[in-house]
Amino acid sequence: MKFWGVRGSIACPGPRTVRYGGNTSCLEIRCGGRLLIFDAGTGLRDLGLSLSADGPVDADLYLTHTHFDHICGLPFFAPLYAPGNNIRLAAGHLLPEKHLRDVLIEMMIAPLFPIPPSAFRANVSFQDFAKGDALSPGDGIVIRTAPLKHPNDATGYRIEYGGHSICYVTDTEHEDGRRDETIVGLVRGADLVIYDATYTDDEYPAYKGYGHSTWQEGVRLVEAAGAKTLVIFHHEPSHDDDAMDAIAAAAAQMRPGTIVAREGMVLTP
Ligand SMILES: [Zn+2]
Ligand SMILES: [Zn+2]
Repeated sequence: MKFWGVRGSIACPGPRTVRYGGNTSCLEIRCGGRLLIFDAGTGLRDLGLSLSADGPVDADLYLTHTHFDHICGLPFFAPLYAPGNNIRLAAGHLLPEKHLRDVLIEMMIAPLFPIPPSAFRANVSFQDFAKGDALSPGDGIVIRTAPLKHPNDATGYRIEYGGHSICYVTDTEHEDGRRDETIVGLVRGADLVIYDATYTDDEYPAYKGYGHSTWQEGVRLVEAAGAKTLVIFHHEPSHDDDAMDAIAAAAAQMRPGTIVAREGMVLTP
């Protein structure tokens, strides 16, 4: 898997974030010949450019939710505008009130945005599933899902393929002193757990109710679930490279082997 965007809330490019990266959430996961993409933050644009250089694109794009930082890269995903590409979009947090297609059309509408989704030239499909559903995109890939605690809801994912597992759990808020048993169940025994670590435990009390968690809670979760490696993700935009270095050092002390996600980083579970 490769990180194309690791930031939460808003993109924050600039000299203070060059080492960890300023783009918002986007992951590329390869399972054999299949391409899975998770979230469509600003990192999706660069992924699209690299894919377009490699010929026809066939991809499944799963959204954790439709807050702006997780979808704003979509109109700039070049493969959507090229005929012959197949892009399947899916989300699990909208039913029964809303549907993914309608929500994305609401974003790409004048005067907010000049190009409507009808300008897509690829074969684009939209799937709404119920969070908690298990998905089988084929080729032996199994994706388990679970509801997260976040304003307007969000979906956590566990991708299993070839005996390996990656969990993608953002955006979510924990309860002080109590593990979220739904997440513990989702990530149990997993190889990699990418977790919403927007804040530190010290910062968290000031941001209660914002829908995000801490890197220390990530450590407590993977330990409760017997998972292998925690990946700190969805970095707070105010956390510059030096702040992220300090978090990396503290996390390595609390749980050796913990990884802080950086833009461009490739991990193999
Ligand atoms: Zn977010
Ligand atoms: Zn969110």
